[in-house]
Formats: sequence, C-alpha cells, structure tokens
Amino acid sequence: MKGKIEKSDEQWREELAPDVYRVTREKGTELAFTGEYWASKETGTYLCAACGEELFKSEDKYDSGSGWPSFSAPAEQASVEEKPDQSHGMIRTEVTCGRCDSHLGHVFPDGPPETGLRYCINSAALDFQKR
Ligand code: FE
Repeated sequence: MKGKIEKSDEQWREELAPDVYRVTREKGTELAFTGEYWASKETGTYLCAACGEELFKSEDKYDSGSGWPSFSAPAEQASVEEKPDQSHGMIRTEVTCGRCDSHLGHVFPDGPPETGLRYCINSAALDFQKR
C-alpha cells in the first residue's frame, strides 16, 4: 500500500458519484440485494471505489445469503482498518479502506472457516477489476 490519501469532504463530494459518496464518506448502507456485486462470481479483484486500493479478492468471496458482497478475508490485512461502531443501537465493527479511510461496511464473527469472519461490504464502495 502506498501513502494515505486525505481529501476534504468537498473534494470527495466532487469526485465521487452520489451513491458512492453516500456510502464511503457518509457511512451509508445500500439496500440488500440491490448492489452491483452481491451475486457476482467473477474472478478478479475488488478495489476501493474512492481511491483504487486493492481491498478484496474473488477467491475470498462467498455467498452469505445477506444480499451484500461477503468476503472471509481482506486481500491483505493492511488493506482495511477495523474500528468499533456503536451507531444505530448495535455494537459492530466498522471496516474502512486502509488507504483513504472510506467506509466499506462491517465485519462479523459468523463467517466460514478458516477465518470465521464475514466482511459485509457495500457494492457501492467497490470497483471490480476482472482478472
Ligand atoms: Fe480507499
């Protein structure tokens, strides 16, 4: 990973499509079963929609039944950051881009072996690069 990316809210708002801005910079959540990638089984890499950092690989993607793209692990541990999130009356762990701090989704401890983790990620926070 290269250096951190820091931009003003105004810059992000200018650069990102409205749905991408709402999820990545305002911690929005897209409706289940509506995003571009929840059912995708193509082979490739999922990049941060805001900065292009490699975040997840299709090899770690699985069908969780949630209606959001779900991964058992990030591409590399440094690809993402995890932070406690007590919003909306729930105790969850937020997942953000390790490079630009964009909100991606949450990670839950109910994933498949080997990791036991479910990275529940908004399609709007991702760009897919086919391999
Ligand atoms: Fe990013």
